[in-house]
Amino acid sequence: MTVIMTTPQMTTTVRDQIVKIEFWPIDIPITDPFVVATGARVVAENIFVRITLHDGTQGYGESAPFPEVGGETRESCLATLRRLAATLIGVSAGRYALRAADMAEAAPAYPAARCGLETAMIDAYSRSTQVPMWQLWGGQDIRPRETDITIPIATLEKSVALARDWYAQGFRLFKMKVGNDVEQDIRRLEAVHHALPGISFIGDGNQGFSREECLAFARGVRRFGGAMVLLEQPVVRDDLDSMAAIRQDTGIPVAADESVRSLTDARTVIAQGAADYINIKIMKTGVVEAVAIAETTLAAGLKLMVGGMVETRIAMGCSFSLVLGMKGFAILDLDTPLLLATDPVQGGYGYRGAHLDPWIGSGLALTTQPNHKVETVQ
Ligand SMILES: [Mg+2]
Repeated sequence: MTVIMTTPQMTTTVRDQIVKIEFWPIDIPITDPFVVATGARVVAENIFVRITLHDGTQGYGESAPFPEVGGETRESCLATLRRLAATLIGVSAGRYALRAADMAEAAPAYPAARCGLETAMIDAYSRSTQVPMWQLWGGQDIRPRETDITIPIATLEKSVALARDWYAQGFRLFKMKVGNDVEQDIRRLEAVHHALPGISFIGDGNQGFSREECLAFARGVRRFGGAMVLLEQPVVRDDLDSMAAIRQDTGIPVAADESVRSLTDARTVIAQGAADYINIKIMKTGVVEAVAIAETTLAAGLKLMVGGMVETRIAMGCSFSLVLGMKGFAILDLDTPLLLATDPVQGGYGYRGAHLDPWIGSGLALTTQPNHKVETVQ
C-alpha cells in the first residue's frame, strides 16, 4: 500500500500550480494620436493574459508592445507567448522570480511578452496568498500619488487645447513629447506656459535631439521662463557622453529611458554619470528585472521615475504596485489609461484627477473578460 504524505508546503505548491494560461489580443483606440519623435500610434494593440492556478485563483497580465520604441509587434508577442506559456504549465506561481530569469534567457528580445506572463503569475500568486501585489515589494509607501500627463507631438493649437483640458482636471506636470523640431517644440511649450499658470514641464525627446539641439531647446525654454524639471532621453540611447554633458551644461536633471533596457544598461548609465533619473518600465525588462533596476538605481543615489508604453490599468497597476511597495519613486508617468478611449478593466486602482488611489484587495484586484480571440494553453 502506498501512503501519500501531504505536508503543508506540498499543499501550497499544488495549490498555486499553474494549470491554464489564456491570452488574447485587444485593440483599444487612443483618444488623440500618440505621436512621439520615433513614431505614432492611434490604437493600442495589446495582449491580455490570464493565468489560472490549481485552486481556481486567476491572475491577469498585459503585454503592450510599442514597435517604434521596443521593436516588438503584437504578432511577435503572440508567438512568444505561445512558446513561453507552454513552459509554465505545472509551475508554482510563487516561483515567478526564477521563471522570469528563465524566460529572459529563452526570449531576451521579447520583454513585453514576458512582462504579460510575469505580471499574471505575480498577480495570481499574490491573490492566492491574499495580499495586494504592492505588499510583495514591501508595502512601504501606501498613499495616493500624483502623475504627470503626456502631451503628444501636435500642432501648437492642439497642444494648448489638450493641456487646457488636463489642467482643468487638476494636472500640473506636463510631459511634452519633443525632439522633432527644436523651434516648434519651444513654441509649443511657450504657448502652454503662457496659457496655464503654475505648471512645470518634462521634455521627453525619445532620442530625437542631437546634443546641440537639446541645449538649444533648454535655452529656449529658459528664455521664456518655463519650469523644466526633467529632460528625458534627449539623445540616442548609446550617446551617454551627450547625456552627461546635457546634465552639466543645462543644470536640468536628465532621465534615462530608452538607454536603460536591462540591469546591465542601468549599471552603465550610473557608472558614466549619464543621468539623474532612471525611468522604470516593466515592458522594457519584465517585472522582476524592473525591481532589480529600481533597487540598483536607489542604491547608487539616483532617482526613480516610472512610466509605461500605451498600457491599460493592468500593466499600469503592476507599475503602481512598485511605487506603493518600494520607497523612492519621485516622478510618476502613469497616465496612459487616461489617454485611451475606453477602459476594458473592472476594479483595480482608480484615478482622481491627477492622482492615483491605491487599492486594497488581493493581487491587482481587477478583472477583465476574454474576447473571442482567446488562445488557451493547458
Ligand atoms: Mg520616455
